[in-house]
Amino acid sequence: MKGVNPFRTAGQWYRGNTHSHSTVSDGRLSIADRFSAYRDRGYSFLVLTDHGKVSDVSKESRTNFLAISGSEVHPENPYSGELYHIVAIDIHEPIRTERVHPNEAIEQIRAQGGEAVMCHPYWLGHTILDLLPIHGFFAVEVYNDTCQQLIGKGFSESTWDEVLEKIGPKFGIAADDSHGVDHDVFHAWINVKAPDLTMGSILQALKTGCFYSSLGPEIRDIEITPTQVKGRSGETIDTHRIHVWCDPVKSISFKAQRYRGSYVPAKDGGWVTEGEHVVQPGTKYLRVEIAGADGKKAWSNPFFF
Ligand SMILES: [Zn+2]
Ligand SMILES: [Zn+2]
Repeated sequence: MKGVNPFRTAGQWYRGNTHSHSTVSDGRLSIADRFSAYRDRGYSFLVLTDHGKVSDVSKESRTNFLAISGSEVHPENPYSGELYHIVAIDIHEPIRTERVHPNEAIEQIRAQGGEAVMCHPYWLGHTILDLLPIHGFFAVEVYNDTCQQLIGKGFSESTWDEVLEKIGPKFGIAADDSHGVDHDVFHAWINVKAPDLTMGSILQALKTGCFYSSLGPEIRDIEITPTQVKGRSGETIDTHRIHVWCDPVKSISFKAQRYRGSYVPAKDGGWVTEGEHVVQPGTKYLRVEIAGADGKKAWSNPFFF
């Protein structure tokens, strides 16, 4: 099994939002007001990602809060024409995007030690055809709140599944993409498991996928244990059993490529707080998704087999 299990990693949980805008681009709040809003709300970190701009945000950090600089960049799309929206986390210099291939833009991000997130593919109309030629990104936005609040196109789960099946291990991130002051803030976040709240620890946890995404419900624990199943001709196959504990929700889904997952719904108008899945032979990846009665969800990162 490959993939970090944050629920069985030592450390504390830190809530953060990886995508936000200020008046430096098209956001409604100044940099100082954007950061103080997230600090006041109890967040542990916020990444400022103004379109095409990088700002020095270091003076917005506190002992219990990290201000992380970043940008949202828009290289041209030679495949379908619709510009890419790529969030760069932890960069300090602007990224050149004019007459630059998206892969070169990502190389610039990585050359600064940053990480690239492919943003809101559903809202962009991007499919696997737009993402297959792209190299070096570390995550896809599985949910983007501003896209949800404006036109109901916030959820990009099926694109993430295609990426996991056809490209390989990429993390899922739920983010506000906050532009305003109330409609698209504090709705979507990641919970990062890290030994402490320092820039080094939080960025390391991000890079290794030691986090999960949520719109509200919490995943409490995921246990992965070796087990065996019988194959078609009676042979013994080594595999894994995955057990999940979570807040009371209406369903727990175990998602893998094609038919290999399983679905645990709440019964008789009740709630479900745990579920189990035995990883089937041929499974490439498996991720956990929980959904509350109000449609609010949480997503684990994928485990690879
Ligand atoms: Zn965008
Ligand atoms: Zn944005």
